[in-house]
Amino acid sequence: MKYPLLVTGAVAVLVLARTVPPAAAYPSSSSRQRCGNTTSTRVLLTFDDWNPADPGLATRTGDYLKSRNIRAAFFLNGADVRGHPDVPAKLRAQGHYVGNHGSTHKDLTKLTDAQVRAEISGGVRSNVLRPPHGAWDDRVRSLAAGMGYRLCTWSVSTRDWDKGSGPDGRRSAASIRAMWKSAPAASKKAGNILGHLWTNYPSAVTGLIADVHAEGRLFCRNRGAVPANWPAGPACT
Ligand SMILES: [Zn+2]
Repeated sequence: MKYPLLVTGAVAVLVLARTVPPAAAYPSSSSRQRCGNTTSTRVLLTFDDWNPADPGLATRTGDYLKSRNIRAAFFLNGADVRGHPDVPAKLRAQGHYVGNHGSTHKDLTKLTDAQVRAEISGGVRSNVLRPPHGAWDDRVRSLAAGMGYRLCTWSVSTRDWDKGSGPDGRRSAASIRAMWKSAPAASKKAGNILGHLWTNYPSAVTGLIADVHAEGRLFCRNRGAVPANWPAGPACT
């Protein structure tokens, strides 16, 4: 009986070794643009990257949104978070999702398989990856899935990084709000708004909230702390 037991043991070890099951991709491009928010029409505000000049901005913004009963999502760079390792847990305790945005904001489509894996494993641990620059292809998606990640992009970009009349020479808060206002209704429904912590987007948030509400739309509702792994779609209701 020794031999069958050894074989069974070997199989068990192989099964246990595969601790990260491949992630199921979002079922459609519309779903991928919304991080799977297909069961609610609520709008998700998202904040990418980091603000090196104001490291407290992420959690301050998170605190403000919590006070407005709004759940947002943050896609922070792993390299930035390493200097502020308590931030993801603080944001999640505030009721916001935190996703992986890679380690050093590289275009994953231009990297080798090993480099893609290193960028993802150096990013914030989660099960949703927003590829930097929105750049992905089937290879990147497959590599990410093998590490337990689904890809999420966005449905409405504020293009907050563009040159403009803002105080930093980029798009102003008013112009960021105008980007939402002029977006097609189909993109606004269950809209996933892309903006960055290092632009004028955070200062546009109060106005954006008013604009979205004035259209009769609601934001993803904040019902308290969330785990590192997102459900199939963000819990918005
Ligand atoms: Zn980014």
